[in-house]
Amino acid sequence: MNQHISQDRLIDYLHRALAPEDDAAVYAHLQACPECAAAMRAETALTEALQRQAAAEERDLPAGVTATIWARVDELSAAPGFAERLRAWLRPAILVPVAAVLVLGLFFAPQLFRRSPVSIDAAYYLDDHAAVNGTIPFGDASETIPASLTNTSDPVNASAVAVDPVTMTADVRP
Ligand SMILES: [Zn+2]
Repeated sequence: MNQHISQDRLIDYLHRALAPEDDAAVYAHLQACPECAAAMRAETALTEALQRQAAAEERDLPAGVTATIWARVDELSAAPGFAERLRAWLRPAILVPVAAVLVLGLFFAPQLFRRSPVSIDAAYYLDDHAAVNGTIPFGDASETIPASLTNTSDPVNASAVAVDPVTMTADVRP
């Protein structure tokens, strides 16, 4: 009991953090020792000053902030309906990343699951290109001549006649 109380112990006493027997011992020492009682008063004053400071900062919150926070809390604690949850899911902030993941999945999934990659010979594209070009009327690579310009019955005027030769034969007949 002759030993003075350390500051840590005083703080613990102040915060009611001591075991009951330690708390009683400190209390008894404070009654008997003016030096420790003064230290205790200083510690108490400091704690109270800090608490006042904290309370003042709390009061300094702009008017309405606390009300807004509590309104938001009430809003969040109200159980959201299915429509609200769906609407929350459909927000772009969520929907866009989800869509991106789906698109990436669709893009990469075939490559991930394909065991033997199918290779296409470049000659296929060349042949295909030539075949398509050949069907274009009047094209440079065209091998097809439009039927209406062909007249096999009159080779001399073949390039000039645009009329169906069958029709001409029918007209000439008396
Ligand atoms: Zn003391």
